[in-house]
Amino acid sequence: MKKRNATIWLIMAITAVSFLMVQCSKSEASQSTDNYNYVSPAEKSLLLEEQNPDNDIIIACIYDCINSMPVEEISDSELAAVTYMREEELLAHDVYVALYELYPVPVFNNISKSETIHTVAMLALLEKYALPDPAANHQQGVFEEPVLQALYDTLTAMGSASFQDALMVGATIEDLDIDDLMVDLAQNVDNTDFTYAFQQLLRGSRNHLRAFHAHLTFQGLIYTPQYISQELYDQITSSSWQVGNGFCVCSFPSKDNSGKMSEE
Ligand code: MN
Ligand code: MN
Repeated sequence: MKKRNATIWLIMAITAVSFLMVQCSKSEASQSTDNYNYVSPAEKSLLLEEQNPDNDIIIACIYDCINSMPVEEISDSELAAVTYMREEELLAHDVYVALYELYPVPVFNNISKSETIHTVAMLALLEKYALPDPAANHQQGVFEEPVLQALYDTLTAMGSASFQDALMVGATIEDLDIDDLMVDLAQNVDNTDFTYAFQQLLRGSRNHLRAFHAHLTFQGLIYTPQYISQELYDQITSSSWQVGNGFCVCSFPSKDNSGKMSEE
């Protein structure tokens, strides 16, 4: 229920933000392609962390890591969380791919590759427990979950308006993803493998939010969080890139899995 309500709010908020963005884009932000060349410090770290080694190596690490952890009983809430998050990460991936086709800015390409890692982590959990994969026959921009289909349609339409709107879409996706992952970690998952994987996704999302925030700041624009609190948004975007173990240095998570930054 929570996610559906949140989505209704998102669509309402996007309508308002989109209008404001268009006004702002017209009056203040330049459409010059010079703006495309900005690379935030966060992205430089992303390139180092997530493309070296390349995705294939990280994907192998994901399976090794997830499968090295104990097989535990899956709760209904864990089943729902991993099924939803498998497609939510694909939503992020597909939106960024669509935006990169419109705007040749590395941030969309780099982060879409990171989202591939995230959705494979969810797939590894589904496969470990022989659970059905909602994205078994995935096609770009097509989702089993109607809430995510509506989000994809809304966000890609919004992002097509301008590069500045596309950056706002990026911040919106990460804002939503952080909130959903924190709820999952606090309430819906407690198995070791689930907790570890969801923590990795959360750390990634915070880094992605830092990257989009830096781009928006460079453009003179301010994103107002719609899901997480302003306090948490400020805390994340004012702190530095978080390097974690990732899946290739597989370590068991701590018992406290509330998802707070200090715990990783
Ligand atoms: Mn992600
Ligand atoms: Mn992300």
